[in-house]
Amino acid sequence: MMERRRRSRNNGAMSDATKPMDADAFRDWGHQLIDWIADYHAGIASRPVQSTVQPGEVRAQLPPHAPEEPEPFDRILADFERVVMPGITHWQSPHWHAYFPANASFPSILGELLSAGLGVQGMLWQTSPACTELETHVLDWTAELLGLPAAFQSSGPGGGVLQDTASSAVLCAMLAARERATGGRTNREGCDGTLVAYTSEQAHSMVEKAAGIAGIGRAHLRLIPTDNTHAMRADALATQVAADRADGLVPFFASATVGTTASNAIDPVGAIAAVCRDAGMWLHVDAAMSGTAALCPEFRWIHAGVEHADSYSFNPHKWMLTNFDCSAFWVADRRWLLEALSILPEYLRNQATDTGAVIDYRDWQVPLGRRFRALKLWFVLRSYGAEALRAMVREHVRLAQDFAQRVERHPLLELAAPAPLNLVCFRLKDRDDAANRALLERLNASGALALSHAAVGGCYTLRFCVGQAKTTAAHVDAAWERIVEEAQH
Ligand SMILES: *Cc1c(COP(=O)(O)O)cnc(C)c1O
Repeated sequence: MMERRRRSRNNGAMSDATKPMDADAFRDWGHQLIDWIADYHAGIASRPVQSTVQPGEVRAQLPPHAPEEPEPFDRILADFERVVMPGITHWQSPHWHAYFPANASFPSILGELLSAGLGVQGMLWQTSPACTELETHVLDWTAELLGLPAAFQSSGPGGGVLQDTASSAVLCAMLAARERATGGRTNREGCDGTLVAYTSEQAHSMVEKAAGIAGIGRAHLRLIPTDNTHAMRADALATQVAADRADGLVPFFASATVGTTASNAIDPVGAIAAVCRDAGMWLHVDAAMSGTAALCPEFRWIHAGVEHADSYSFNPHKWMLTNFDCSAFWVADRRWLLEALSILPEYLRNQATDTGAVIDYRDWQVPLGRRFRALKLWFVLRSYGAEALRAMVREHVRLAQDFAQRVERHPLLELAAPAPLNLVCFRLKDRDDAANRALLERLNASGALALSHAAVGGCYTLRFCVGQAKTTAAHVDAAWERIVEEAQH
């Protein structure tokens, strides 16, 4: 790739590769790397989607010890091509239908680069005011674009913050809920083993992880049964909450999912909120991938009931063209989040903080230090504009719905779950799990596309997600033909 010779801008001479990279060399290599990324994206559709390296194969090509002497950058990049690239799975391929999209659009890549270039820490307003204020502002914009409740706007007691992931968001929500339920006691003294949390049996495993980390205990997370659409049963939640109270336990937190990972099921947030309100529980809503659909008014039904939630999160780093990591998290009232996470050592004291006139985002997250993530989200929102983002969502949903109809009509295949948006779960009709697993393995081994699987209703199920930014009808057609061909074997 980087075969072009590096020249200093001024005199055309090669700069000294054994010196730390200077500004001219950075400029030249930077231009080449941007070219490389543009070429990579331009040619990505013809690469086999998934890496086929064996475990240990990448490491076996790396020297056992870090270098003592500087190495020329062209040699490092040559090794990147030789050693790293074969071990890369191409998430940016238009043939990517596995897990969820992790779109890295060009504006977001440039925002990421600029964030690295500035190299600021945004832990306090004081440590880079624009880092905080841009974040607050784009989160207000985004909440409005999704039609989220006014309570999440920063102008009131609530507000938004960018986390690394939805996992961090649910952990922060659980910590805030824990403090609210115990009046701040758990922060000082630890948990006494009475708190109980709830989510559905189809919820993401991150909720269980959070229950462990937050000191609630994984055994004190109740996995509520789901209905025939794989959505949480609010009646079963109410029954479990009542049983736990009767046992002297303290229900304090529930996490509802808008678009489960396995099958895109949409929990009945309004009915769950009613149970939470009666029990005094915090309600968090996890809409990691599917929240993006609410850009379009016709899909806002997925958020019915969110106006009763205490917190909500979705991942622009999935389906909203912003490269990982960028997870948006809002609370309706920031008080308990701050109670749970604020800490002010003397060396971080400053006048802006003391006057209370500013937001210090280190109090809204687990770590202290933080990246300037808002820049890439700002670049995306402005470069595309809301209407282009809506058009992308509509097209992906249309393609997925079209795919679902083809599955329904095909004699060898069947839908394994309702497909409300851009994810289709399907399997071979009247065949066992082993046959379905073999089908997935054949498809992925072809290199022509990538799918993933889940257990839905206790059965092995293939998942076909349409969300990669470059995916068009032609890619879905090609995938469909390949699937039908392999299904006949
Ligand atoms: C992807 C996903 C998550 C996890 O997201 P991270 O940002 O990687 O923590 C959580 N919930 C749902 C529904 C998801 O689809």
